Amino acid sequence: MRGREDTERVAPARPAVPTEGRPGEVNVVVNAPPGGTLQRWLTGPRVTGLPQPAEQRPPKLSFEFFPPKNEALEQGLWAAIRRLEPLAPRFVSVTYGAGGSTRARTHETVARLARETSLTPAAHLTCVGATCAEVDEVARDYLEAGVRHVVALRGDPPAGASEYAPHPGGYAQAEDLVRGLRRIADFDISVGAYPETHPAAASALSDLDYLKRKIDAGATRAITQYFFDTDIYLRFLDLCGAARITVPIVPGILPVSNFKQVQRFSAMCGASVPSWMAKLFEGLDDDAETRRMIAAVVAAEQVRLLQANGVDEFHFYTLNRADLTYAIAHLLGVRPRQPSEPAEPVTKAEEAVAAIAPIGAVGAKG
Ligand code: FAD
Repeated sequence: MRGREDTERVAPARPAVPTEGRPGEVNVVVNAPPGGTLQRWLTGPRVTGLPQPAEQRPPKLSFEFFPPKNEALEQGLWAAIRRLEPLAPRFVSVTYGAGGSTRARTHETVARLARETSLTPAAHLTCVGATCAEVDEVARDYLEAGVRHVVALRGDPPAGASEYAPHPGGYAQAEDLVRGLRRIADFDISVGAYPETHPAAASALSDLDYLKRKIDAGATRAITQYFFDTDIYLRFLDLCGAARITVPIVPGILPVSNFKQVQRFSAMCGASVPSWMAKLFEGLDDDAETRRMIAAVVAAEQVRLLQANGVDEFHFYTLNRADLTYAIAHLLGVRPRQPSEPAEPVTKAEEAVAAIAPIGAVGAKG
């Protein structure tokens, strides 16, 4: 899709900012190593054509869903979950509506995933519109439902509000929420990361600093905002490495079939939409079927390029549709697990949370 000439404009990143900081100051050390992932991308071997080379292991996947608004959407969501379940993702996560608006629906969906499927559920939880005690209670409810993985986020402002304002008595930022969750139990905690910098951040480096703070507060993995150009992620990965962020930075993959909608949304969340992508969807506004086929190829190619650069774990924004994600996973060599097949060995972090006991009394809730 994109040749080497597309990437040669990218100079290996080498800013150096080593300082000790007060809260809010940049205090990461950034010194991108010469042999980093971006460098390898610029100078290393190219991705080979399909089929995948025999020695290439299928990637590890996780899937993200949003809670359904009504009965019909709920049926669609569960059909999608059941279709994707045999692909044995590492976890499936369920979002928390802007402003905490889906608190009950998120909880119901996550609890049902824990109860009725073989999947490992992860609950998104935000700081918006609730006190620390209320957020802690939601977290304890998850523990009681057998849910050990939380995606801890600051959250987007509720509908109608343009800017984020911390709730009085609430967690101010994701970093504070991570710390709060750690006090409750040894959760597996994922946080958000922004390869193109969060729109509210003062600079890319301060954003990186806040990511490091979330990790230092106890997060076990970061999941990125979606991006479309490989070099954007690889540059970010190098910066994370140089800042001594050692947890996995799992790339968020958004298969794009509704290009116009993605263009609008990307303008709000700070993700850039490359001109090559606009060209691919040119003239297809009224041709949803062709757009979906293109979406599958583009996303599969994006993953394969990242795999060629050593990335082996991907988080898919499914938008509650199974077909695209299933087709992409198939292209990547992921096949439904047979009932007799053993599960993928868990990581150390996952092993740890499998046996967690709540810190303090879960019963302290009442
Ligand atoms: P934080 O890490 O707390 O910070 C956001 C930005 O604010 C930082 O990048 C930093 O520049 C700045 N900042 C952080 N701390 C401070 C500080 N102490 N002082 C000053 N500035 C600071 N939103 C939802 O509402 N529900 C969801 O389910 C949801 N799921 C998401 C899943 C993923 C994988 C991602 C990447 C995002 C998701 N979001 C969700 C969106 C997210 O809530 C927004 O991007 C939000 O604006 C920032 O959340 P955060 O947790 O990254 O924030």
